[in-house]
Amino acid sequence: MQMYRPSIYNARSGKKELKMSITATKTLESINPATGEVVGSVPVTSVEEISSVVAKARAAQTAWNTLGLEGRLALLRPIADRLEEEAKNIGSLITSEMGKSTKEAQGEAHYGASSFASELVSAFEAFQPEEIADENTRSMLFRDPLGVSVAITPWNFPMLMPQQCILPSLMAGNCVIFKPSEETPLVGQAYADVLNEFLPEGVLQIVHGADEQGKALVASDINLVAFTGSREVGAKILTACGPDLKRVVLELGGKDALIVLEDADIDAAASFAVQNSFRNSGQVCVSTERIYVEDSIADDFENLVVEKTKEWKQGDPTDETVKIGPMVSSTQRDIVLSQLEQALKDGAVLRCGGETNDNYISPTVLTGCSHNMQIMHDETFGPICCIQRFSGDEEAVALANETPYGLGGAVYGETEHAMNVARQLTPGMVGINKGCGGSEGTPWVGACQSGYGYHSGRDGHRQFTQVRVVSIPIHEMKPKY
Ligand code: NAD
Repeated sequence: MQMYRPSIYNARSGKKELKMSITATKTLESINPATGEVVGSVPVTSVEEISSVVAKARAAQTAWNTLGLEGRLALLRPIADRLEEEAKNIGSLITSEMGKSTKEAQGEAHYGASSFASELVSAFEAFQPEEIADENTRSMLFRDPLGVSVAITPWNFPMLMPQQCILPSLMAGNCVIFKPSEETPLVGQAYADVLNEFLPEGVLQIVHGADEQGKALVASDINLVAFTGSREVGAKILTACGPDLKRVVLELGGKDALIVLEDADIDAAASFAVQNSFRNSGQVCVSTERIYVEDSIADDFENLVVEKTKEWKQGDPTDETVKIGPMVSSTQRDIVLSQLEQALKDGAVLRCGGETNDNYISPTVLTGCSHNMQIMHDETFGPICCIQRFSGDEEAVALANETPYGLGGAVYGETEHAMNVARQLTPGMVGINKGCGGSEGTPWVGACQSGYGYHSGRDGHRQFTQVRVVSIPIHEMKPKY
């Protein structure tokens, strides 16, 4: 068994400690977490500049709205083909900027490009006016733009997360100010550049920087904040938006559980557990973070998870055979290593992994976990798979629901049995014998403290609009006697 050795994770000499650094000349350098090399840089937007960025967006918004839904659809549609052309380059940039394996990074970029057109159409349909009538009144529901919206996004899906906040907002007739994560400014810039080949001036602007710029944007004269990121920052944004009742759509962190029932296909459950714990080095909002397995099958399940984990190839993320690259930054690596160190002190059993080298953490399996351990409560944004045993459905449900989060989850077992358990769980999305993602057109929903509002699908798109009702009398109505 490999041993966890905290002493070897000091950054290589000559390497920057942090992936991201804002230099004295206000340039944001993006550093490859696999090599330590500078990938590129962007100018940081000063806080003083933000009010003029907002004013420019507001000035552009009237004309953008006047185009109407058809006009905007016609203008936005050709972007899909340009994104397809750029997808390979954007995918490579995702790998070099954040260390995502080539297969996953290309998958993200190509999926983003290939789904762009259908998402536009889905938003176009969601925003159509509706008519509701009774015997006296005919009412029209219009879905108007909110005005100027801000998209603040994380680094772990640096193309898809922005797309989910920007696309419906533009289609709705809002102008958008986009602040990509300070860890992935180059992907953000590349994405915005493609869109701006087609958009009128001021409709989509980019602001580079970190929390300082994010706070200034939220505080500025805007109408909607579409945020994807951590629960902690989401709560700060909600508070900051309170006094002016600005609209928010918050997609936040998670602590997803996988429940493996006695009647599960153990091999399939173990494969899913490994895949969903370690993909993107565990840096996924719907990663499997807690596994609860029925006592009677636990030995077999745990052994299979360890066996399958050892097959995962870790290394240079540009190598197409590699499944798991580095953590996004040394900061993120250190957070995860300290969570792991604490779990081991608390009595978790290290079954494999736990090694670290530069920004890499090897895929790690812990068994013997319990809710007395902090690692079963805090979001671990890293390749750590934590397994706890349970006895009976009631205990599994109680353990899975013992969290303030409510993003995703999965239940493996005989379908009807698993469905019965799934309906007792609190997350917004639960998969049965699969991950939590729904069919095309379903929303992406964080329940409890994993979200406030949600995006995607008809109802998600509509959160980027203001509903207005105009009613007229029906003159032909029969007189009431
Ligand atoms: P983060 O919350 O630290 O940062 C997200 C963004 O917010 C960044 O652009 C950052 O610069 C900005 N920011 C930071 N402080 C701010 C403030 N006070 N006001 C305004 N903006 C501020 O998150 P992260 O580390 O970039 O991403 C990881 C987190 O995102 C995890 O918790 C993950 O679960 C979550 N996430 C959720 C989803 C989802 O769909 N629910 C998807 C991806 C990631």
